[in-house]
Amino acid sequence: MLDEADHIEWCNPLAEQHFGLDCTRDIGQQITYMARQPEFVQYLSMRNFGEPLILRGARQDGLTLSIKLVPYSVNKKLLISRDNTRFERIETMRRDFVANVSHELRTPLTVVNGFVETLHDMPSLENDMARRALELMGEQTQRMERLVNDLLTLSKLDNALNALQEEKVDMVALVRALYQEGLSLSGNRHRLRLELESDCAVLGSTEELRSAFGNLVSNAIRYTPQDGEIVLRWQEQGGQPVFSVRDSGIGIAPQHIPRLTERFYRVDRSRSRETGGTGLGLAIVKHVANRHQARLEITSEEGKGSIFSIAFPAKRRLPLPEETQT
Ligand code: ADP
Repeated sequence: MLDEADHIEWCNPLAEQHFGLDCTRDIGQQITYMARQPEFVQYLSMRNFGEPLILRGARQDGLTLSIKLVPYSVNKKLLISRDNTRFERIETMRRDFVANVSHELRTPLTVVNGFVETLHDMPSLENDMARRALELMGEQTQRMERLVNDLLTLSKLDNALNALQEEKVDMVALVRALYQEGLSLSGNRHRLRLELESDCAVLGSTEELRSAFGNLVSNAIRYTPQDGEIVLRWQEQGGQPVFSVRDSGIGIAPQHIPRLTERFYRVDRSRSRETGGTGLGLAIVKHVANRHQARLEITSEEGKGSIFSIAFPAKRRLPLPEETQT
C-alpha cells in the first residue's frame, strides 16, 4: 500500500521478496528509493494504470514480475505484483519447441519429397498404381512442407528477440508484384483488378508485408469460385495507408470472424485442405500486422464475399503526411 507520494504504508511478505523490502525497516520509505528500475519508476510516474507492467530481471536474476497499480480511496494506491517467471519460462519453452520441431522436420521432408518426385518422373515406372501412389505421396509431402514453412515463419514472428527490420517499403511495386502473382495463381479463373489510389510507401519489413499480403491474395483466390471478382487496393483513409483485398467469394458467417486468426482455425476444413491451405495464413497476417502496429479488419457476408484490410498507423506512412503538404 502506497500513499499519495508513493511512500510504503504496508506490505506483505511476498512483496518484501519481490521488491527486496524489509517491512519493519522500510515502512515510510519511498518505493522508488527501494525499487529503482527505470521502467518501474516511469510506470509509477505515468499514472496510467490500465495495463500491467512486465518487469524482467527484477531483484534476483531472471525474476519476471507483472506489476499493477490500483488506485483506491483518496490518492492511495495498492501495488500488486505477481511472479510471472514460471509462466514466461514455459512460454519460451513452447515457442522453442515449435521452432525446433519445425526445423528438424524440414530436412527429412525435403529428402522424401525429392525422392518421391524423382521416382514419379522415372520413365521406367509403368505400374499405374505405383504412379498414382507416388502422386498422392508427393501431394502430402508438399503439404507437410508448406505446414513446416508456415510454422517456421510464425515462430520467427513470435520471437521477441527478432525485432522488426524496418526499411522503406515501396508499396506500389509490392502491390503490383502481388497482383501479377495473383493473376498466375488464379490462372484466368477470376477477374482480378488493381486499384492504386496512393503512391505512398510505408516504414516496415518488405519481406513480412509480402508474406502477409500474399496470404490475403491467395485466400481471396482460393475462397472465390470461378468468374468471381477480386480487387487489390492501396489507398489512404484519414491519413492512414490501407491495403485491402476484396473478393466476391463464399464469404464468412459472423460467428467465425473473431476466430479466423487463431492457428489452424478453419471454417471449412476440407475446402481449406483441397486448395492447399495450412490454416496458418491469417495467424501470420495478424502477427505481421501487430508488428507494424497495423490493424487487420475483416468484413464479410456469407455467399457475397469478404474484405480483408490492413490499416497502418499514420506514423508509418512515408513520406510523413506533413512532408507531403509542404
Ligand atoms: P487456410 O490455409 O485454411 O486458408 P487461413 O488462416 O488463411 O487458413 O484462413 C483461415 C480460414 O479463414 C480459412 O480456412 C477460411 O475458412 C477462412 N477464410 C480466409 N480467407 C477467406 C476469404 N477470402 N473468403 C472466405 N473465407 C476465408
